[in-house]
Amino acid sequence: MTFKSETSAVPSIVLNDGNVIPQLGFGVFQVPAEDVFQTVTTALEMGYRSIDTAAIYGNEEGTGRAIREFGLPRDEIYVTTKLWNSDQGYDSTLRAFDASLDRLGLDYLDLYLIHWPVAVADRFVDSFRAFQVLKSQGRIKSIGVSNFTIAALQRIITETGEIPAVNQIELHPRFAQEELREFHAANAIATEAWSPLGQGTVLDDNAVAAVAAAVERTPAQVIIRWHLQLGNIVIPKSVTASRIAENFDVFGFELTPEQMAAISALDSGARIGPDPATFTAGLVN
Ligand code: NAD
Repeated sequence: MTFKSETSAVPSIVLNDGNVIPQLGFGVFQVPAEDVFQTVTTALEMGYRSIDTAAIYGNEEGTGRAIREFGLPRDEIYVTTKLWNSDQGYDSTLRAFDASLDRLGLDYLDLYLIHWPVAVADRFVDSFRAFQVLKSQGRIKSIGVSNFTIAALQRIITETGEIPAVNQIELHPRFAQEELREFHAANAIATEAWSPLGQGTVLDDNAVAAVAAAVERTPAQVIIRWHLQLGNIVIPKSVTASRIAENFDVFGFELTPEQMAAISALDSGARIGPDPATFTAGLVN
């Protein structure tokens, strides 16, 4: 099996196309372009084997350089990037893909995601058709979406005949996305959690602190463990080496069903990010 570092026991999730993705990866949203080479290198040194970036993060170049210079065979690191909203549409998706791959300095992607549906523009089906062509050419291993609602997922499935491998969505204890996770499970779509720590906001919660004390782990480790035990793919972010290591050290303990339930009880339906049904940043004409 690829993606296993010598020291880690990161499980793999098998996607609906037969490819595997490490269940725990590393996200680089808001990591400045000038820092990202060092940050990704640190994550790879700690044992992470999956890196999540996006064209709009402006840090694909340093991310790709860190991956290439780390020196592992290409197929031992899982690389995800995302199509930005302004590039949706069939031809523009093909061009945006080439540009992302160029910036990363790679010759294929493991996973390409439509970053947001931007349903009002009505271009996500055409974008996904371009993804299908790129996949058939071997330039993307798996194709998926991000921030897709059930309605948008249903349109992709009906109109392209293909079920996205992954939907990467905001998901953390305060916004647990039960309905969408059930839809994913029923349709063999893997759930990937973004802002899995609620961008740090969930870490001060008393219920999390109580579980952390009981298992003698940190709040961040407990929340990552909650995701893993729910079956989510999870991509926490930090630029601090000690936290990057802490967030990866989550395989030596388990939460009991009661501890899982105590964390799940924090769901208040409160999202941090934009509502995918109405988010149109980058929309042109
Ligand atoms: P996150 O939930 O991973 O939180 C990151 C923040 O939590 C850090 O900046 C830090 O402040 C804090 N933190 C991290 N580890 C900690 C620790 N061990 N102890 C204490 N504090 C800690 O938030 P995120 O960066 O928004 O999300 C993770 C990744 O998800 C991103 O980097 C990106 O790759 C992806 N993402 C995707 C989308 C999307 O629209 N698809 C949107 C947002 C994020």
